[in-house]
Amino acid sequence: MSLISPYEHAHKQQFRGNLHTHSTLTDGIYSMQEVIDLYGDRNFDFLMLSDHDTLSDPADYDDRGMILFPGNEITAQGGHLLHVNAKELIQPDPDRQVVLDAIERSGGFAIINHPNWGCRFSHWPQKELERLQGYRGIEIYNGVTERAEGEAQATDRWDMLLTQGRKIWGYGNDDFHILCDLERVWNMVFAESRSAEALLESLERGNFYVSTGLRLDTITVCGNRVSISAPEVECYRIIGDWGAIFATVEGPELSFEADPELPFSYFRIECFGKGTEKAWTQPFWLQAPH
Ligand SMILES: [Zn+2]
Ligand SMILES: [Zn+2]
Repeated sequence: MSLISPYEHAHKQQFRGNLHTHSTLTDGIYSMQEVIDLYGDRNFDFLMLSDHDTLSDPADYDDRGMILFPGNEITAQGGHLLHVNAKELIQPDPDRQVVLDAIERSGGFAIINHPNWGCRFSHWPQKELERLQGYRGIEIYNGVTERAEGEAQATDRWDMLLTQGRKIWGYGNDDFHILCDLERVWNMVFAESRSAEALLESLERGNFYVSTGLRLDTITVCGNRVSISAPEVECYRIIGDWGAIFATVEGPELSFEADPELPFSYFRIECFGKGTEKAWTQPFWLQAPH
């Protein structure tokens, strides 16, 4: 049995960013420059402008030292999804597979937004997520849903899809509209350099983790062993198919050897710190030898 890890080529440098923001161009209360300033003041490394069904050009703004990605939240006529690094405005279509296919052709990639938003916690019905093909991942944490109906976390949806064999990543985005949405969650990206190309490659390949406050200094994979070093972590949970927790490890250092006998097709690691501080790794797949 071998371990498939998105962190095999993890670099030492980490870059922090949010891929989901709104401004006065649609339903946010700050101008896009004010939104950029707020994230720049918090030392973010990258940010995506993603107003509803609107594409804005980062070149129109002072980037405040960040990498700015053009983006769009496709909203009208169906479930919301992000077009990351959008070079053109993709038109909404009630059949979201048509939208996802258009994104594939256009370049950039798609992320499913806030699956558990709404009074029935089902902005995206699970059957629809199972039907659709071509998205790189889902928001496993959506900041604005902390103050809206539904549930900010969507690891339940992720585990169902992962168990069905989908190779998709978990992303964490503020979905910034007003000040209290700022810095609720972010993506920590391992990359060779602080360039748009390197960040996008890691974001597309799963070479990042999601955090609401914790920093993981290193994620190392050697054979079937995953090690994490993170001074602020108090407890790790190893989670497998259908979201089952099959190990809990206390303390800041994790060294977990995946047993070939484990009845799981993948596992992922949730890291807990003080209060609500948490981090989520991407999944590691267990592959039987051919
Ligand atoms: Zn949305
Ligand atoms: Zn949004």
